[in-house]
Amino acid sequence: MSSSILDGPGASYRAQRGPVLRARTWRAEGLLRMFENVLEVGENPDELIVYASLGKAARTWDEAHTIAATLLSLSEDQTLVLASGAAVGVLETGASAPLVLSAVNNTVGRWASPQRFYERAAAGQTMWGGLTAGAWQYIGRQGVLQGTYELFGTIARRSFDATAGREADALAGRWVLTSGMGGMGSSQPISAAMIGLSSLTVEVDPAKAARLADTGALDLVTTEIEEALEALSRARQERTVVAIGLIANAADVYPALAARGMGPDIVTDQTAAHDARYGYVPSGYSLTQWRSAQAEDPERLERDARASIAAQVTAMLTFAERGSVVFENGNNLRVQALEHLGEDAAGEVNRIPGFMEAYLRPLFARGIGPFRWVCLSGSDADQRVLDDLAISLFGQRRPEVARWIELARTQIPAQGLPARSCWLGHGERSAFAVAANDLVADGTLEAPVLFSRDHLDSASMTHPRIGTEGMRDGSDGVTDFPLLDAMALAATGADLVAIHSGGGGYAGWMQSAGVTIVADGRPETAVRLRRSLDADTGLGVLRHASAGYDEAAASVASGGETGAAPLTWLRASPPEAPH
Ligand code: NAD
Repeated sequence: MSSSILDGPGASYRAQRGPVLRARTWRAEGLLRMFENVLEVGENPDELIVYASLGKAARTWDEAHTIAATLLSLSEDQTLVLASGAAVGVLETGASAPLVLSAVNNTVGRWASPQRFYERAAAGQTMWGGLTAGAWQYIGRQGVLQGTYELFGTIARRSFDATAGREADALAGRWVLTSGMGGMGSSQPISAAMIGLSSLTVEVDPAKAARLADTGALDLVTTEIEEALEALSRARQERTVVAIGLIANAADVYPALAARGMGPDIVTDQTAAHDARYGYVPSGYSLTQWRSAQAEDPERLERDARASIAAQVTAMLTFAERGSVVFENGNNLRVQALEHLGEDAAGEVNRIPGFMEAYLRPLFARGIGPFRWVCLSGSDADQRVLDDLAISLFGQRRPEVARWIELARTQIPAQGLPARSCWLGHGERSAFAVAANDLVADGTLEAPVLFSRDHLDSASMTHPRIGTEGMRDGSDGVTDFPLLDAMALAATGADLVAIHSGGGGYAGWMQSAGVTIVADGRPETAVRLRRSLDADTGLGVLRHASAGYDEAAASVASGGETGAAPLTWLRASPPEAPH
């Protein structure tokens, strides 16, 4: 049996479903199904692009073919080594070693610039793996959806006096202004509606809006700003929730709304602004002009994109002065605006906080982050069993987990293999995975389950404008922990371990580690699941404890979220922060 990847480009990409193995082990089969799945749900699979503007699953189609063929024949005591999305070779390592080790675009600091990246990528020498594209862990918009949902929930509780579990009451009549309906950005109207918040999402590409509208996630798509504002105002009066897509350029719409004296309740943006060449359409450019400028006059395009981003950010600052809750949602928007405005504007622009520092850090300090599982069977019945398992294991102690699962199972449109993103913490992830492994073993589940997470997690990410902005010990730009994390994951026998560094506009900005591990029902797999998942979250807790976060110190003292995941922390007092 073959893989749809071997028929690409131009194939109909579909991840294999069902209980039949093509590879020699479920560990390799699971990784191959994920490789297929990221193309099934990706943005531009014929070019191997999965999301985040240029985030790719493999460097070239030749490499994709070699990787897929190797996964089909790989035995359990071998390890496939990948360098920047190209297959290097196979090492004889042993049955408890990872099956795939991958490093993507890791470059010495002095050479980690967007220009060098573009040149090397054009010459076929590297690729940008996104966070989860090159490591085949992307599950479509759900991967970011719960993060945005958690974020809106925290804003509701902190800024609008909501009580936990009743966020919708405080959000009734309120709305968020945002933009971008790409791979990740398209999650925004869905997560807003899930928590009871109306949304106006600006998108420049009508095809992206149409695609999202087809899932039922938008109530209205319009090119008219007046029509959009009327619909919002109606929803406010009737205290209903509405999701509106506005086909326009965010660099025009934000300043126009600011000029009218408006102040949305919440303002953010999720265009791919991190990449001034390939991720953000400047004001005044049609999509065709934008695409030709990428090849014909990239420097001018980058300048125009940054000028437009600066106009958008200036409008966001105006909204903030009027009392809107404004934040950057993980796309280097402020960095790009400052390239245009100059460093003198840094004090002003950086009044906009990053979402991690402002809202999610206390969860990361407890190792709670974007864990995910994927039903390799493709079966919705398996998905229901696992959703129920999460509720029964954690629902009592952390009712927010049960609330999330109940919402997610009814409101998230399906994409690819059935998958669930669920923010679990230290001890919870391993407990869940071991319990799922038992359900594979006793035949309750039709086929094995695969566990992974976003790279933006407690131990595994360094990005001083996203995951590690404003760390209490000043370690915002230090990449020790993602590297330690990858070593710990390899040492504890995860199935795939990846180390990614930023590409495109993120060059020089980030380092991250990714992990995937398949629960195939064997007792020895239960041991690897527990060790790897506990090492991953445990290191995250220790990182935050060492950086001075009380929630992390409390997690060490209590043995994680379950009380059954002990950690040894050797530094009881954090060092002084340098700033
Ligand atoms: P994408 O490339 O798939 O989509 C970007 C979208 O923005 C496209 O639909 C594009 O048409 C639209 N767009 C570009 N310029 C525009 C403009 N001027 N006005 C309106 N729309 C415009 O990217 P994605 O996967 O959706 O990711 C978006 C950003 O979010 C990236 O920078 C990515 O790195 C970041 N990201 C953040 C998180 C997080 O945790 N917060 C997670 C993943 C990705």
